[in-house]
Amino acid sequence: MSAIDNRSMNLDLAQAEFEASVVAALPADVDSSNRPRAVADAAYTFVTPTPVSAPRLLAWSDDLGAALGLARPAATGPAVDILAGNALAPGMRPYAARYGGHQFGNWAGQLGDGRAITLGELGTPTGERQELQLKGAGPTPYSRFADGRAVLRSSLREFLCSEAMHHLGVPTTRALSLVATGDEVVRDMFYDGNAQAEPGAIVCRVAPSFTRFGNFEIHSASEELELLRRLADHVIAAHYPEYAGGTPRAYARWFSEICRRTAVMIAHWMRVGFVHGVMNTDNMSILGLTLDYGPYGWLEGYDPAWTPNTTDAAGRRYAYGNQPQIGMWNLARLAGALLPLIGDKDWLQEGLERYRSTYTETWRALLADKLGLEALGREGDEAMIDELFALLAAVETDMPIFFRALGEQVVGAEPHSGAAATSLPQPVAAALYDGAALDETQRARWRAWFLRWRERGAGCGLAAGERRRRMQAANPLYLPRNYLAQQAIDAATAGDLAPLQRLLQVIRRPYEAQDGCESFAARRPEWARHRAGCSALSCSS
Ligand code: AMP
Ligand code: MG
Repeated sequence: MSAIDNRSMNLDLAQAEFEASVVAALPADVDSSNRPRAVADAAYTFVTPTPVSAPRLLAWSDDLGAALGLARPAATGPAVDILAGNALAPGMRPYAARYGGHQFGNWAGQLGDGRAITLGELGTPTGERQELQLKGAGPTPYSRFADGRAVLRSSLREFLCSEAMHHLGVPTTRALSLVATGDEVVRDMFYDGNAQAEPGAIVCRVAPSFTRFGNFEIHSASEELELLRRLADHVIAAHYPEYAGGTPRAYARWFSEICRRTAVMIAHWMRVGFVHGVMNTDNMSILGLTLDYGPYGWLEGYDPAWTPNTTDAAGRRYAYGNQPQIGMWNLARLAGALLPLIGDKDWLQEGLERYRSTYTETWRALLADKLGLEALGREGDEAMIDELFALLAAVETDMPIFFRALGEQVVGAEPHSGAAATSLPQPVAAALYDGAALDETQRARWRAWFLRWRERGAGCGLAAGERRRRMQAANPLYLPRNYLAQQAIDAATAGDLAPLQRLLQVIRRPYEAQDGCESFAARRPEWARHRAGCSALSCSS
């Protein structure tokens, strides 16, 4: 069967014909054993997924399946065997990629796909090409001292967040399936010597490419300059054809485009309050897609210093408010890796400047949408925004709830009159975790801010209906907050998939009010504040 046939059918995965253009374009490791080791002069190592005992489908993305031309499989059977690493479809030539990375600010040397295995590439009905990759499919040469597996809780979180981010309109890798392996995996979740057996699972991730900044860094650090060039040329030919040419200037323009895409991605993270948690350069996609969902989280109370990752609790390097700056730092590491191809540091500097300007412009445009304004930049806007974020940070105030509720105030009661003259604006009241925490000065400042925003909006030139529409499209109502994800995990672990299905259904339409879903849009309940997985998470996965 040729790739053309894939385009016309709702195929069973087991019958789909896969391609292997990465394998054809780049050199493989000469050794294909999965013994942990340092690999040289290769972009990847051929590895076969290690079979599991009882694969069972737990979740599937219908719209991604349809985009790939694949039929939803039954709970068990040939397609699920492939999604669990127990079988291969025609044309698959599975491999683990070799990459390095800067972890928490330090060069970590070789990392690589320690538990991810790319199966192959699938031509889609619309003529695109997507890679399918299993995460948790067993050891590879890059597994170091770990087992190559993943637990249900982290796999469910990755599946859920990939779906959420896509539907939120944030550039992301995607997830096609979540499969239980039937095997147990031992993890020390709190790193306190209490290792426990947990159910294992595998996510099938999908992206045009899973190439990371770290793939370039490892070749550059190992002085494999020919390989560096071949990797760049392959990525450009397959994903950035408009930057072909192979000249220093063409590579520099390509780098600038990577900078632009990364800036747009991070501006959207900031818009929805997403905190990646582990922005090491091995987790940064060369396509500007959110990649590797580990100890991520969603900002609830607005706090730029917040991170869900307990491993980063002391330094807070990857906290919400640091993400834009870390994006720049990571791109500077990529610039260093690409220097042998470009030669001129000034050209790389231009790319980094592009990052800075794109981030600033995109964030300002998104913030204007969040506030229902045509644009920001009028006299007084800067002060209005500074005051808003100062007030949001002053006492624990739920950022998503505040912005969403603000959209309902575009038209409404005149705030000067009656109770409104002395009470808190409704969006603030709705978003406060402890109403008593605000003192009278802060209450007065909130009232003043609200009037200012009202007046600014009334004179902005957009009709009220249009302002409300823009605000609703920029400010999500439903997010898979960590405690909601944890409830779905607890139920799934006990064999009940209904809460996961329900949560998936809600987050697939994040901007639209859905009947009976009020609890999904509510503030985090108090019990969840300090419960494991409900706010903070370790890297154990
Ligand atoms: P992460 O922090 O999840 O991005 O992972 C950093 C590195 O550790 C990557 O090379 C991963 O492939 C590897 N890694 C993480 N967990 C495991 C595991 N359970 N088995 C093998 N390798 C792993
Ligand atoms: Mg990673």
